[in-house]
Amino acid sequence: MPYEYDDQNVFAKILRGDIPNKTVVETEHTLAFHDINAQAPVHVLVIPKGAYVNYDHFGAEATAAEITDFTRTLAKLTADLGVAPDGGGGYRLIANSGEAAIQEVPHMHVHILGGRPLGAILARAAS
Ligand code: AMP
Repeated sequence: MPYEYDDQNVFAKILRGDIPNKTVVETEHTLAFHDINAQAPVHVLVIPKGAYVNYDHFGAEATAAEITDFTRTLAKLTADLGVAPDGGGGYRLIANSGEAAIQEVPHMHVHILGGRPLGAILARAAS
């Protein structure tokens, strides 16, 4: 099934400069900015500049240059944010994709969370 990208999503608006963001770093293919509703002392969102709906879409259709830039930018950022495993306490990456994960914004993004003990990987949900 082809991926359908909604260019009215909030991250598309950020990328167009229609709404502001607190940028941490910007590269040729990637933008990182602070989450507006931080869940930890460090809560940064890393997004590709390309129009990808979710991680599946990005992995399937992004160019090698986009994937390399995204991965290296994210990896370098953890040290810059002071949460690298070696000396910074560590971090968690989250890429909510689709309904079960309650993905709110349909533009591929990875959350970097850190700066405090993050607890179990999943909250126990009522089944
Ligand atoms: P997700 O549930 O993985 O789609 O997460 C979307 C995230 O985007 C949430 O953590 C929101 O707090 C965050 N968010 C929504 N709008 C903005 C915005 N304008 N600037 C920064 N973060 C935002």
